[in-house]
Amino acid sequence: MAIQTVNPFNNQVVRTFDEMTDTTVDMLIEQATKTFHDWKKTNYEQRAVILRRVASLMREKKDYLAKIITLEMGKLIAEAEGEIALSADIFDYYATHAATFLADKPLQPTLGSAYVRSSPIGTILGVEPWNFPFYQVARFAAPNIMVGNTVLVKHASMVPQCAVAIEDLFNEAGAPAGLYTTLYISGERTSLLVADTRIKGVALTGSEAAGSHIAAQAGKYLKKSVLELGGNDAFIILEDADIDETVAWAMVGRINNNGQCCVASKRFIAVEEIADTFIEKFKEKLEQLIIGDPMDPATQLGPMSSEEAAVHIIDQIRRSVDAGATILLGGTRADRPGAFVAPTILTDLTPEIPAYYEEIFGPVASFFRVKNEDEAIALANDSHYGLGCSIFTKDIVRAEHIADQIDAGMVFINHPTWTQADLPFGGTKNSGYGRELSEFGIHEFVNKKLIRIS
Ligand code: NDP
Repeated sequence: MAIQTVNPFNNQVVRTFDEMTDTTVDMLIEQATKTFHDWKKTNYEQRAVILRRVASLMREKKDYLAKIITLEMGKLIAEAEGEIALSADIFDYYATHAATFLADKPLQPTLGSAYVRSSPIGTILGVEPWNFPFYQVARFAAPNIMVGNTVLVKHASMVPQCAVAIEDLFNEAGAPAGLYTTLYISGERTSLLVADTRIKGVALTGSEAAGSHIAAQAGKYLKKSVLELGGNDAFIILEDADIDETVAWAMVGRINNNGQCCVASKRFIAVEEIADTFIEKFKEKLEQLIIGDPMDPATQLGPMSSEEAAVHIIDQIRRSVDAGATILLGGTRADRPGAFVAPTILTDLTPEIPAYYEEIFGPVASFFRVKNEDEAIALANDSHYGLGCSIFTKDIVRAEHIADQIDAGMVFINHPTWTQADLPFGGTKNSGYGRELSEFGIHEFVNKKLIRIS
């Protein structure tokens, strides 16, 4: 994949970047390794100073940064501004809380005294996707830098200007060379890098295929890995849900980021008492979406991240219809140039139909009608993925009981699955392993060193 900015609103190539040579990559890894030996000796306050500056520069340059997100991957401009604000919050969050999270943990052994110290482990590689070009990097880089690790980031090839901008923020914040380094290389070359003895761990957010490559390499070379992969989140609607609020959240859950979130609500499962009302209102809202230029604040649905992504979604819809699915809405490209897909609802889905199990990364909702709560739980769990799930009902005790039976890393009640700095994020099954964000996320690439005193 070429390292290129292609504006998905009109599919025009804006700028092409050269891949780094092996010599350059080697030199940068060497620099990150050297910097680690100094950085691990800094204290939490010194580390926090850099992150706070990055956060404040992000807020200062929000308009510019949001524009390059929208240019490169088509996110609505207001959502891009929201992403910059969220990313800045993540940097501040770890600057403020890391020292507490990583404080020595006293133990009460039967003999002697002991404690566990959280020590950095070295240079960590992050492989990041295009769908949240700043947020995904923030949740990887901020905790690791506070731990005392140094980071190498291989960003998605379609967001090179975002990659440049993030590194520039670190430079402007006064970070030492080698603390935060961007590698402009292909995915395949990135997998090979895991073998490098100077790299001590790897985190990837992206597809199952890329995750599997990285994890295989990490296993081969005995390195810790954290994977955040796809999802096919269920959105369960029980008979007593507040219908208008639920439909409003269904729109956010499915359409946010033009439908390209790992934790988007993708499978809408309604019990029969409320199913007709829900689908009628949801369809009406989807039909009314204003499709257009993501830079225009009036637009409600922008393009997919690339022409290839749009073509892939249409192929998933076509294969599903061929296998027996019914299109209740859309099912085609939007009638305009650019990487657009019309809002779509698919029904009559059975396990033999591709859309039943495949993740559809775009504005395509799968709709299921079930008899009762038990059927809703069984259907929600009938997925290779286990990232998030949401449940809509006025009965919170009932929702908590259902949440216990859901095989997912995150369950949200009366809200689509979402993210904030102080909540752990991650999944089970093919959605990956490990956690990012909150206190949980900072302990992934840490040596929990036992100190025992006799
Ligand atoms: P990829 O998984 O291909 O891309 C994510 C990151 O992994 C990119 O930096 C990519 O680099 C890199 N990569 C790709 N192949 C390898 C490899 N063999 N070894 C190491 N790194 C690799 O996602 P796509 O952009 O192709 O999207 C495809 C699907 O992935 C989506 O439709 C969606 O289902 C899922 N996805 C999930 C995301 C999430 O948030 N969990 C985010 C993005 C995608 P490069 O860009 O150079 O190929």
